[in-house]
Amino acid sequence: MPFFVDTSPPGQCIFCRLISRAIPAAIVFEDEQTLAFMDLGQVNPGHVLVASKRHAATLLDLSAEEAAAVMRTAHHVAGAIAITFDPPGLTLLQANGQEGEQTVFHFHMHVVPRHSGDGITLTWPRKEPAREVLEDHARRLRQALAPQ
Ligand SMILES: [Zn+2]
Repeated sequence: MPFFVDTSPPGQCIFCRLISRAIPAAIVFEDEQTLAFMDLGQVNPGHVLVASKRHAATLLDLSAEEAAAVMRTAHHVAGAIAITFDPPGLTLLQANGQEGEQTVFHFHMHVVPRHSGDGITLTWPRKEPAREVLEDHARRLRQALAPQ
């Protein structure tokens, strides 16, 4: 993950300034709700960020429509990356909150072309709780999802 951290207030963050064209970006695509542009860090050639145009810090600050728009743009851009850079793999990464390793607090999704040995690591410790624990988690989530 990059080490740059931007905690500017809404409307003044680096992505808001980029969306308003106050600062330059290598723009790939835009529609009414999203802007796709080259990540300055370029983990691999073709590494693109898709940001919501409206300032929203995290996934939960987006409307369902904005979240869908981001995924639609990521899908669209992924197709262009496949044609242009032909990577053998592709990773979508979307981080929320400091503990989630978010560094710019304006919603964005990384579309990262992947190659073997490209240095990207994501540790994922499997904890494998008992079946009853999974069922309890699922029950609690169903309850939260149920119409009130
Ligand atoms: Zn912003």
